[in-house]
Amino acid sequence: MNTVSVKTVKFGGSSLASAEQFKKVRDIIVADSNRRYVIPSAPGKRFADDTKVTDLFYTCYDHASRGEDIKEIFGEIRARYDSIIAGLGLSLSLEEEYAAIESALIHRIGRDYAASRGEYLNGKILAHYLGFDFIDASDVIFFREDGVFDSEKTNEVLSAVLKRHEYAVIPGFYGSMPNDTIKTFSRGGSDITGSIVARASSSVIYENWTDVSGFLMADPRIISNPKPIETITYRELRELSYMGATVLHEDAIFPVRIAGIPINIRNTNQPDAAGTMIVSHCPPDGKRIITGIAGKKGFSVITIEKDMMNQETGFGRRVLQVIENSGICFEHLPSGIDTMSVVVNTADLAPFRTMVINNICTAVDPDSITVEDNLALIAVVGRNMVKAKGTAAKVITAVAKADVNLRMIDQGSDEINIVLGVAADDFEKAIRAIYSEFDR
Ligand code: ASP
Repeated sequence: MNTVSVKTVKFGGSSLASAEQFKKVRDIIVADSNRRYVIPSAPGKRFADDTKVTDLFYTCYDHASRGEDIKEIFGEIRARYDSIIAGLGLSLSLEEEYAAIESALIHRIGRDYAASRGEYLNGKILAHYLGFDFIDASDVIFFREDGVFDSEKTNEVLSAVLKRHEYAVIPGFYGSMPNDTIKTFSRGGSDITGSIVARASSSVIYENWTDVSGFLMADPRIISNPKPIETITYRELRELSYMGATVLHEDAIFPVRIAGIPINIRNTNQPDAAGTMIVSHCPPDGKRIITGIAGKKGFSVITIEKDMMNQETGFGRRVLQVIENSGICFEHLPSGIDTMSVVVNTADLAPFRTMVINNICTAVDPDSITVEDNLALIAVVGRNMVKAKGTAAKVITAVAKADVNLRMIDQGSDEINIVLGVAADDFEKAIRAIYSEFDR
C-alpha cells in the first residue's frame, strides 16, 4: 500500500440506493487500493418517485414528536436496509441498531439524530460489505456550542484516528455537539464530510461519486446536451454554484481548498468517464473562454434616484444600512451618477418591503424610489476571461441578437465573471443565446 497516494471517496445517495448500486460501488473501491476512506450518504432515490431515506427519517421524527405511531414508517425504513442486506447476501443483522433507533425516535431524542441515522446505517452495511473498519462520525466530526463546524478540533482528532485505520467507512452528514448530541450539516452535507476526511487524511484527491459525469457548461433543462466541464477552479465553481448550478454542496469546497486537494466529480453508473476536476489553479489553456453559465430567477431591483446624489457623502452607506437593518443581503449594486440600484432576493425582501422603502425615504430623501420584481440573474463564468478582450461585447451582442432587453450588467474586478440581469421571462432565451455564442 502506498501511503502517499491516499484517496478519499464519497458516494451519494443514488449510488447507494440499492444492492445493485452497492455492487457498483464496491467494484469502484476495490479497483484501486488507494481508495482507503469511504464516505457514504443515506440510500437515495431508486426511481423518480421514490423517497430518500433521510426524508423518511425526518417524517418519522415528525410523527413521533406529535405523539403518533411510527411503526409503519419505521418499518419502511427498515425494509430499505434489509433489502440491501439481502440483495448483497450479507450475514449482517441490524436488529439491535433498529431497536435502539426506534426507541430513541419515540423518546424524541432529536431531529438531527433522526436524520443522521440514514448515513449511520448505510455506513454499517457498507463497512461490513467491504470488510473496512467503521468509524462513527460522531466520534471524529465536531461542532462548537454555537452550532458552527469546529474545523480545527475535527482535523486534529480525525487525522489521529485515521492513522489507526488503514481502510475505513465514515458516514457522511453528521457529527457531534460538545454535549454529545448529534448535529447534521445542511442537506447534501455528506459532501462536506468527504472533504473533511480528505483533508484530515492528506488525500491526493477527493473523489465525489454521484449520478452525473461531472459538471456541465449549462443546465441541461435549458440547453440540450451541454458540453461537460473537464476542469474548473474552486473560484469558478463558487460563482456557478452560488448561481444555482448544483452537484456539490457549496461548503464542501473549503476543507480541501485549505489543503490544496483537488476534487474529482465522477459517475458511479459510468465509472470510465473522467468527470470534472475541481482544482485551486489552472493555467489558462487558451481553449474555452467560458467555463460555464448558470443563473437564478427571483430577484428584485430597488432603484433610488436623486439629483446630485454623487456629491452627497454617505448616500450609499445610508441606503445599505436600511437594507442591513432588515437582515437582507444584497446581491449587486449597479449605479449611475444620480441613481443607485440594489438587487436583492425577492423572497428576502417580501416581509420588509414597505418598511425598507419608507426607511430609505427617511434616510436619503430621494426624488424617486421604485421596486421592480421578476429579475433573473445570469452568471457567465470563466477563468480564461481574465485579460481576454471582447468577451463582454460578445455576451451583450448575443443577448441583444436574441431580442432580450438587458436590465443590468456587472463584471467582478477579478474578471472571471460577468453577471447579467434580464426579465425572468427572458431567462432561458438569454442563456441559450450566450451558450451558442461561445459553443463554437
Ligand atoms: N442524506 C442527506 C440528505 O439527503 C445528506 C447527503 O446525502 O449528503 O441531504
